[in-house]
Amino acid sequence: MKGAQVMRIAICGFGIESTMFTLQLAHYRDFVIFKEDALVARYPLADWLGAEKAASVEWIGTMYAFAGAHGPVAPDDYDAIEEEIVSRLRAAGPVDGVYVDMHGAGHVQGRTHLEEGLLRRIRDVVGDDCVISMSMDPHGNFSEELASLIDFSTTHRHSPHIDNWETRRRSVVNLMEILERGEKPLKAWIRIPVLLPGERSATTAEPGASVFLAAIDAAKRPGVLDTGIWVGFAWADEDRNAAAVMVTGWDAQSITETAAELAQRFWDAREEFKIVIDHSGSWSEALDFIASSPPTPIWISDSGDNVTAGASGDVTYPITETLARPEAIAGKKVLFAGICDPDTLDAAVAAGVGAILDRSLGAIVDSRFAPPVPGPWTVVELIDGMFGEGMVGAVLDNGMVHVSVHRIRIKFTSLDDPTLHPRPGQVWHDLSSYDVIVVKNGYMFPGQEALAASKFMALTPGGTDLDFDRLPFHELWRPMFPMDRNFEADLTPKLLPVTAKLPA
Ligand SMILES: [Zn+2]
Repeated sequence: MKGAQVMRIAICGFGIESTMFTLQLAHYRDFVIFKEDALVARYPLADWLGAEKAASVEWIGTMYAFAGAHGPVAPDDYDAIEEEIVSRLRAAGPVDGVYVDMHGAGHVQGRTHLEEGLLRRIRDVVGDDCVISMSMDPHGNFSEELASLIDFSTTHRHSPHIDNWETRRRSVVNLMEILERGEKPLKAWIRIPVLLPGERSATTAEPGASVFLAAIDAAKRPGVLDTGIWVGFAWADEDRNAAAVMVTGWDAQSITETAAELAQRFWDAREEFKIVIDHSGSWSEALDFIASSPPTPIWISDSGDNVTAGASGDVTYPITETLARPEAIAGKKVLFAGICDPDTLDAAVAAGVGAILDRSLGAIVDSRFAPPVPGPWTVVELIDGMFGEGMVGAVLDNGMVHVSVHRIRIKFTSLDDPTLHPRPGQVWHDLSSYDVIVVKNGYMFPGQEALAASKFMALTPGGTDLDFDRLPFHELWRPMFPMDRNFEADLTPKLLPVTAKLPA
């Protein structure tokens, strides 16, 4: 039996960034799962709250499932995860608070409003008096419905997200503050009808720095508890996709004014959010760029099939288009790194270096934009995994280009990338002999930047297409910039109802 005064806080969470425009489905096995004490131990609660306060709370780890960037979640697999989170929470008994560690861009195949549905079930279990505090990624959608289901939420201020643990800390510290104060905060929420890809919302450049980092100082104003600015997530056809602002606090006037100001600043800058790279364009323009012989090595990102944003990593469009224009790459050694094609990798491993494979590669999951690339291919090299997991990649040559085939969808890196966080399946490869390296990500990662003498972001088709005009949106809330222009946004803050008073 627990002492009457011991505060009980449950921890749960769910994180996936699902692009529904890919054909790649996420399954239960794709999630990393933390439960019970291992989940509680994930958070440095004593550092965040002080050892004494952290120890005064009974922390209950229920379940947290995380999968990074993927396609939509298969419905049965999602239902199994949700059921386990909810049933563990129910089994925990009455709790004073819940900390929800959420990404916010999930999508179950054939459904919408994943996070809203999960929070609705969490709220049903814990009741209206319980304080629910949620941290999110700004590239999640923070709808009015979601904001109404929680009592506190915040999000990273920086993109790239150097502050993702600081955001979680703020959620937990503010949850404690709310519980100790015995009063739920007011929430001022605004939908901003702008939809930007992450590639346009970096805070390492303007206007992202001014727009998003303004949240930090604004959170220090009297009467304000916290501020959050969400960019939203575009790669799902849902009515909730949009940017949003929420300011929480104790003074209605202060939070509504602050929210309005942050939202207005975002709206006013909407035309200025650009892809910050010297060279970008279609794949045809990427080939023109190569043909113009800029300094080598030339790194090109195939951004429409970005495996770090959830695409399938097997789209062959850039290879196919390149083979049709051999003069553009004449005299240059080109590597496409890589194509997710485990069967071709197995065939290469079985045949060995020097063997000739008479088979096609790629376009296994996604053949919408180009078919598999026909052989014959010579096996040039096999790449061993660094965790004893066997061969993770093979480099193949068709006499015009090299293609590395990989076992899993994973960011491709060079052998000497100092920023790399290796994980099983990671392909390490010596790139020093190549003039052109094509990778399946959006912005270059720092290690790639360091190696590139020239860079080009190719706006290719695929599951993470950066050209929104090519995406089949039907459900999107309209008007929405940049799909619509020349309209006035209604940025009036909504003071959302407080779910319930805390029990006296
Ligand atoms: Zn993000």
